[in-house]
Amino acid sequence: MSASQPEPIVSLQGAVRHYVSGDETVRALDGVDIAIDPGEFVAIVGPSGSGKSTAMNLIGCLDRPTAGRVQVAGYNVAELDDDELSSLRSRAVGFVFQQFNLLPRTSVLENVMAPLGYQGVAVKEARERATLMLERLGLGTRLSADRTQLSGGQQQRVAIARALVTRAPITLADEPTGNLDSATGAEVLALLRERQDEGGTIILITHDQEIAASADRIIRLRDGHVVDGGSPPRAKRRAA
Ligand code: ADP
Ligand code: MG
Repeated sequence: MSASQPEPIVSLQGAVRHYVSGDETVRALDGVDIAIDPGEFVAIVGPSGSGKSTAMNLIGCLDRPTAGRVQVAGYNVAELDDDELSSLRSRAVGFVFQQFNLLPRTSVLENVMAPLGYQGVAVKEARERATLMLERLGLGTRLSADRTQLSGGQQQRVAIARALVTRAPITLADEPTGNLDSATGAEVLALLRERQDEGGTIILITHDQEIAASADRIIRLRDGHVVDGGSPPRAKRRAA
């Protein structure tokens, strides 16, 4: 690899994830090669059941491959024990889950402070950073609300704030616009784009072609295989 080419921040090489239940084996990912460079904004698309969430779980260090190699932020995840893996996850990845996953009976502010707590940031600084992030997302007046008092769009913005507040190098979003009207969906994309402008790597999982089209590259999955877009367009970039 020449010096002008960045080391991918995410790479899956021959990655396999099979789920075994009883005497049945589901080949959710069946030998997948994906490379994502730092600072890229990619979409992973594919029909339901094609392996998108399984790929997200591997990239996000929530799961390990059955076989093959998964490398995230310079670490081969197979070589990490559970504690090291969760430490890598909290440092390297900000998650936006499809169902928001906001903590119940917990204020908006505390939801956004939580990932800073996992990183060992002191409470005072965590409160300041979370408040600033929420103000930026137009939620400065809802800091003490809990999730039952928020609309779907507001909950999604809290989920985005929680993913972005740590400034993790990788932001991983599973259908982040799935439950939103198109204006709020556009706002979410703009926030992810802003994070990219600050140097972040954005990985968006979606079945929405229009949303995917706003990414710089589309990685297509089908039946546990990559059918298109697995590697960065290096040749094109060199020519530019
Ligand atoms: P997608 O997110 O693209 O819809 P998934 O990665 O969720 O696809 O699933 C890929 C395949 O793996 C599907 O056939 C699904 O039913 C199966 N699968 C996913 N998770 C599990 C699991 N925990 N146990 C068994 N099968 C699973
Ligand atoms: Mg899924």
